[in-house]
Amino acid sequence: MKKILITGAAGFLGSHLCDRFIKEEYYVIGMDNFITGDRKNLAHLEDHANFEFIEHDVTEFVEVTGSLDYILHFASPASPIDYLKIPIQTLKVGALGTHNLLGLAKAKKARMLIASTSEVYGDPLVHPQTEAYYGNVSTIGPRGVYDEAKRFQESITMAYHRFHGVETRIVRIFNTYGPRMRLNDGRVIPAFMGQALRGEDLTVFGDGSQTRSFCYVDDQVEGIYRLLLSDYVEPVNIGNPNEITIKEFSEEIIKLTGSNQKVIYKDLPVNDPMQRRPDITLAKEILGWEPKIGREEGLKITFEYFKNLSHEDLYKSEHKNFNNHIKK
Ligand code: NAD
Ligand code: UDP
Repeated sequence: MKKILITGAAGFLGSHLCDRFIKEEYYVIGMDNFITGDRKNLAHLEDHANFEFIEHDVTEFVEVTGSLDYILHFASPASPIDYLKIPIQTLKVGALGTHNLLGLAKAKKARMLIASTSEVYGDPLVHPQTEAYYGNVSTIGPRGVYDEAKRFQESITMAYHRFHGVETRIVRIFNTYGPRMRLNDGRVIPAFMGQALRGEDLTVFGDGSQTRSFCYVDDQVEGIYRLLLSDYVEPVNIGNPNEITIKEFSEEIIKLTGSNQKVIYKDLPVNDPMQRRPDITLAKEILGWEPKIGREEGLKITFEYFKNLSHEDLYKSEHKNFNNHIKK
C-alpha cells in the first residue's frame, strides 16, 4: 500500500485530497496545525483504518516514522483576508515549511507535489496566463507575503529537484471552490453565499470589472492526482478557463440563491489582480485533463453545503485559532 503525507489536511483542498487518496487505497497521513483549517473537515476519516492524523506546524521540523512514497504540501493560508491577518505565518509555511518537507522527501525518497498558485502571476499583464509567463508581483505589497512565499516555494522545489534529484511536481492552482470552504474566509464565493444566507447586501470590491475563473474542487483534485502520477516536473496550471467579471458573478449568485439582495460597492483591495484566466493547454496535453463541472452545477452543490451549516458558522466573523497563532 502506497503511503502519502498531506499537509494542510484539515483545510478545504487538503481534506478533499485525503478523501481522494483514501478512495485510491493509499495510506494517508494528514498533517495540520488548524490555523485556518477545521478538525470537522476530517471527522468522517477519524476511524478509517488507512488514515492517521498528526497535529503539527510544518514550519517546525517534520517527523514521520517509516517509509513514505508521496508528499502533498498544501499547508498555507489561502484567502487574502487570512494571509493579511497572519502574514508572517504565511511567509514561514511557504518558505520554512516547504524546506522542511523537501528535506523529508529527500530523506524518504518520496515524490513531492507543492500547491502553488495563480498568484505567482500577480496582476498579470499577459492574458490568459500560460506557465511561461513570469508574472507581475509587488514584493512589498500586502499580498506579497503570499505571492512571494509561493514563488520562493517553486524556486526551492526546483533547486531540490536539480541539486538533490528529489522527484517534484508543481501545480499552479487557479481559484477553486466547493464544500468545506470556510464561510468566513473572505474569498468571494463563501463571502457572497454567506451574505445571501444572512440577508445582507453583496459586497463587490472596486467596480466589479475584475475577472476570475472558478474551478470546482472535484475537477481540481482530479488534475492534481494526474499531475502527481505524471512525469512532468515544471509547473502546470490547473483551473477552469471560464472567465467572468465579479459584477456579473454577484448577479449570478443572487439568481442562484433566490435572494433579493442588492450589490454594494467597496474599495478594491491593494494589488487585487484585474484579470485572471488559466491557459490549460499544457494540462490538456500532458495530463489529458480539463474541467468537467460547470459553474452552475458546482455553485449549486456549494450553496447546498453552506445552507446546511450551523447558525454559529454562519455568524462567526473570524477563525477561532487566529489569536493563538498571532501571539506566538
Ligand atoms: P485552507 O486555508 O482551507 O487550507 C490550508 C490548511 O493549511 C489549513 O487547514 C491550515 O490550518 C493549514 N496550515 C496552514 N499553515 C500551516 C502550518 N504551518 N502547519 C500545518 N498546517 C498549516 O486553504 P485551501 O484553499 O485549502 O488551500 C490549500 C492550498 O492550496 C494552499 O497551499 C493554497 O495556497 C493553495 N491554493 C488554493 C487555491 C484555492 O483556490 N483554494 C488557489 C491557489 C492555491
Ligand atoms: N471580492 C469581492 N467581494 C468580496 C470578496 C472578494 O468583490 O466580498 C473580489 C476580490 O476583490 C477579487 C475577487 O472577488 O477581485 C476574488 O477574490 P478572492 O478573495 O476570492 O480570491 P483572489 O482571486 O483575489 O485571491
